[in-house]
Amino acid sequence: MITYAIGLKNRFRGITVRQGMLFEGPAGWAEWSPFLDYDDATCVAWLRAAREAAVDGWPEPVRSVVPVNCTVPAVDPEKAAEIVRASGCGTAKVKVAEPGQTLADDLERVEAVRDAIGDGRVRIDANGAWSVDQALRSLKELARFDLEYVEQPCASVQDLAAVRRRTDVLVAADESIRRAQDPLLVRELEAADIAVLKVQPIGGVRACLEIAEQIGLPVVVSSALETSVGIAAGVALAAALPELPYACGLATVSMFTSEVAAQPLLPIDGFLPVGRVQPDPSLLAAATADQEITAAWEVRYARVESLLKGSVG
Ligand SMILES: [Mg+2]
Repeated sequence: MITYAIGLKNRFRGITVRQGMLFEGPAGWAEWSPFLDYDDATCVAWLRAAREAAVDGWPEPVRSVVPVNCTVPAVDPEKAAEIVRASGCGTAKVKVAEPGQTLADDLERVEAVRDAIGDGRVRIDANGAWSVDQALRSLKELARFDLEYVEQPCASVQDLAAVRRRTDVLVAADESIRRAQDPLLVRELEAADIAVLKVQPIGGVRACLEIAEQIGLPVVVSSALETSVGIAAGVALAAALPELPYACGLATVSMFTSEVAAQPLLPIDGFLPVGRVQPDPSLLAAATADQEITAAWEVRYARVESLLKGSVG
C-alpha cells in the first residue's frame, strides 16, 4: 500500500495537494482516494470501488477508446479559449455561476469557448449554484451558444426538475446522484436528461452500471480527481456502458503537477485509451507521501475497512 501526495496546478475544492492510496491486487492496481473532509461512512463506497479494481477486475469493454471533454474553469475569455485550443478535445465543459462572478462573465467565457471549439460541443456546469429563476434567466441568454447540456443548474433534485420543465436546454444531474440518499429520485421526479456518474463515490464500475440501468438515462462518466490509476476505473465504466453518446469528464490528470504512470491518461485528439494502468516505480517513489501523511491514511484505511467488513457481514 502506497500513500501518495501530489500537488495540484490550481486550487480545487479548497485543496492544493491531492492525497490517496494505491495498491495492487490480483486484478491490477487500484486507487482509494476519498477527499480528506469525507467521513468514514462515506468512504466505504470508495473502498468498494478500489477493491473491485484490485480483486475482481472490471467488466469487458465494448469500445477501445473513450471520448473526453476538456474543462474550462472560471477564467477570463482569452484563457478559456487557450485551454480549449490546447486540449484537442471536441467537447468543452465550462464552469459557470462561480461565486463573485456575474452572468456577463459567464456569457463572455462561453462565447470564447464556442468560438474556439467551432462546431464542437459546449456544456456548462453550475455546480448547483443557481436558484430556479437564476438558472432560467441565465440559460435563456447562454442557450444562444448552442449548449449540449447544463450540469446541476440548481442544488436540489426538485429545483432541477423545475428548471428542466421550463427550458429547452438538456439538464444533467451530478451532485444530485452522487451525494443523494436516493440517486433514483432523479428518475422519479424526471429531473434530468443525463446522469453524471463517478466510480469511486458510487462504489465501483458494476455499481455504476447498475445505477445507469435503473436510472434509464444516458451517462457521462466523470472523475473524482484521481491519478491515472483511478482514472482507468472511470475509463473502464465508460468502456462498458452499452451506449456512450457524450464525452466523459475523465481528462483531469493534467490538473496534477506530477503523475504516477509513465504514460498518464491524457487525451490524444480528445480520446483516452481503455485498459489497466500500472504505476512507474520511480514516479511512484517520487509521489509517495511523508511518514505523517502515510500513517494517517493507514489508520483511515483500517477504520473504513472494518466498516466495509461490517456492512457485508
Ligand atoms: Mg459537475
